[in-house]
Amino acid sequence: MLVLEYKAVVRSSQAIAIDEAIRTSQFVRNKVLRYWMDNRGVGKKELYQYNTQLRAEYAFVKDLNSHACQASVENVERAISRFFDNCKNNKQGVALGQKNEPNLSNPTNNRDAKTINHEGSAHFSRHSPVKKGYPRFKKDSRCVEYKVSGWKLHPSKRRITFSDKKGIGELKLLGKWDIHTYPVGLIKRVRIVRRADGYYVQFCVKADVTTEPRSEDGEIGLDVGLEYFYSDSNGHHQENPRFLRKAEKVIKHAQRRIYKKEKGKNNRRKAIRRYARKHLRVSRQREEHAKRLARCVCKLNSFVAYEDLNVKGLVKNRHLSKSISDVAWTSFRRWLEYFALKFNTKVVAVAPHYTSQKCSNCGQTVKKGLSTRTHDCPHCGTVLQRDVNAAINILCKAKSTGGHPGSNAWGVGISTLLGATQACASSDVEPRIPRLLAVGSVNDVDIADVLLA
Ligand SMILES: [Zn+2]
Repeated sequence: MLVLEYKAVVRSSQAIAIDEAIRTSQFVRNKVLRYWMDNRGVGKKELYQYNTQLRAEYAFVKDLNSHACQASVENVERAISRFFDNCKNNKQGVALGQKNEPNLSNPTNNRDAKTINHEGSAHFSRHSPVKKGYPRFKKDSRCVEYKVSGWKLHPSKRRITFSDKKGIGELKLLGKWDIHTYPVGLIKRVRIVRRADGYYVQFCVKADVTTEPRSEDGEIGLDVGLEYFYSDSNGHHQENPRFLRKAEKVIKHAQRRIYKKEKGKNNRRKAIRRYARKHLRVSRQREEHAKRLARCVCKLNSFVAYEDLNVKGLVKNRHLSKSISDVAWTSFRRWLEYFALKFNTKVVAVAPHYTSQKCSNCGQTVKKGLSTRTHDCPHCGTVLQRDVNAAINILCKAKSTGGHPGSNAWGVGISTLLGATQACASSDVEPRIPRLLAVGSVNDVDIADVLLA
């Protein structure tokens, strides 16, 4: 599934209609979720029946295309099945009923146990040791999703008309990429997304990634870090651009401007939007940078190994969280997996344990703290930059396990099955694939430039 995105030209009356549609789809989602919470054990069928009931009851729900309402129900379904999957997978770790017992016996964890008892509902409490992702209500939804009906593409495929009673009407699409090469039948979803700088229309196309020839057949190990974006096993260091750090001053200025405006007034709203646009710019820069690098790496190598980092866990370190979020490892990894398909490159994720402590030459463990930047092996005399040593280790480790796909279940398996994580239970679910903002010439296009042009 590819996702192509266009910027939409929207009149102010249409903007109101789109916001209304987004709000309605959020309303349906929250209502259906509430219904599931109140009636434990209801299945898919009941949820859809309840949706029909809602359509009969509320005129504004009826105005939204029926398939768009169903998409909201599917959204709830997905959240529920993800929650149940998480429960199933964590079963041995912490069984629901016995959760607070081990905590009580352990005096150091007493505080934790108390909070769980206090809150009563331990299985989705904020302090529970294993988070299972209990479905939550949405309060700031930004998109509405249509399926195969409720919209019609203009023959030129440069305009789209939404035909339900929300009154969105015809939107002009900006962007030069090639939705016209795909037959309309392959477009399975159409979404309208609201961002700080306007509205976007996304098309989910059921098509395979078009492959391109690789230009070289190297092998490379990547060690991501904060000092450099990554260091590879050939000794190259890729600069860390630190987009947020660079824009911080401007962002903080924009943020302060908000508080100088009177609450509830137009100027304040404008200031908020200006501030949001600054953040949007940084996130686009990050994404574009990660995409460009991933493309280079996959184009030049037939085998790429990287660490399977638990970024979510690392971000919890509050001294480093901003820097870690700023380097965008996760989106780099997602793009690596996408371009691996495109260039037929093999990418392997390896467990990050001991990769920096081991000597890449003789295999002995050389203990070093985070501040030691060089690897100096007393056993064989190898002297390497710390990250390069780690990158070589990662490459070796990947080669020793990566030769047999499947043996390393959480490395090879996940990284070759692009985005299709176990969480997506139903086959209809669209895997989380990076949005393709420009097919074909991805590295030549600066998103920020194109979209704002
Ligand atoms: Zn050594």
